Amino acid sequence: MRKAFISPAKYVQGEDELYNLGYFIRTFGDSALLIAHPDDVQRVKHKLEHTMNKYKVTLVESGFTGECSRQEVKRLQQLAIEHNCSCTIGLGGGKAIDTAKCVAEGEALIIVPTIAATDAPTSHSAVMYTPEGEFDDYAYFKQSPSVVMIDTTVIANAPTRFLVAGMGDALSTYFEARATASSYSNVNAGLPCGAMGGVAPAKGTKAALALAKLCYETLLEDGAKAKMACDANLVTSALENIVETNILLSGLGFESGGLAAAHAIHNGLTSLEGTHFYMHGEKVAFTTLVQLVLENASAAEMNEVLEFCVSIGLPVCLADLGVTSVTNEELQAVAQKACIPEESIHSMPFPVTEEMVVSAIRVADMMGQQFKGQKDV
Ligand SMILES: [Zn+2]
Repeated sequence: MRKAFISPAKYVQGEDELYNLGYFIRTFGDSALLIAHPDDVQRVKHKLEHTMNKYKVTLVESGFTGECSRQEVKRLQQLAIEHNCSCTIGLGGGKAIDTAKCVAEGEALIIVPTIAATDAPTSHSAVMYTPEGEFDDYAYFKQSPSVVMIDTTVIANAPTRFLVAGMGDALSTYFEARATASSYSNVNAGLPCGAMGGVAPAKGTKAALALAKLCYETLLEDGAKAKMACDANLVTSALENIVETNILLSGLGFESGGLAAAHAIHNGLTSLEGTHFYMHGEKVAFTTLVQLVLENASAAEMNEVLEFCVSIGLPVCLADLGVTSVTNEELQAVAQKACIPEESIHSMPFPVTEEMVVSAIRVADMMGQQFKGQKDV
């Protein structure tokens, strides 16, 4: 059986780690193209200036427009050539990071997440949009970022909602990897395949499944403690563990362990208007519950996940995601989107129909409401 595992060449996190950014730039040359939203640059400006002076490197600011589009990527690649940049830095949230991945095309790339809201930083893929902000395509690169570096002081000073949303994204990782392993489905670590004369797809490794399990266990152990630390803008061991969980464990776990129903139903759920004000990981927390209903997980496991979500304020029912009433037709549309042939829902260890998805959403919603009701008594 063909198996694959992919990861960044280096992962490093620590308090005030940004002071070392210049050191990593130096490993490539003496200048870097900086792709970041101006607000994010402002938040860490003194650290950037400090590291540039210490390591004698130049940061070429790019005037990033905030959208990861083909046009913007082309403009930034041109800029990198004009300034003779030796590497690319993506600093900030999802869009800056994805844009940097597209600009670097798998070469000399440093990713610096300033929030821990998703598990995307470590991956070798990106989502592209049109300049108007509509979905365009997925892009896969030959390699993951060269360096993923995280300044935990910066994460602790970002709004707690980001860290909690990141825990929602990380919550699905183990259950999706477990389903993918049971069904022997392909994992993203094997992509891109077919381009180089028919390289075959690949299944997950034992390593990826073990990391996904550790991801879930660490959430249960340190999630609530980390949330408290973030509320107080303090770096503690629990916060460090959750930063590693949200970004490294969940990132490697999803890319090399596989996605299944939770992320597919998340993608379907975006067709409900009310959910638009909620973050990716907040929706994934609820759709993890939907996947557990779909696979008829044990009551003990369901309760463990519900308990965790409620303890840190992650959504457990549709009302928590801004959907106070929903028709069967609307849920049908969600299920249809979740079940298109390209979706990861087909990595579940049994065939999934649209009807099964509608029923599972309804039941997960009821279970979440009931669980919260019991808590309030
Ligand atoms: Zn995700």
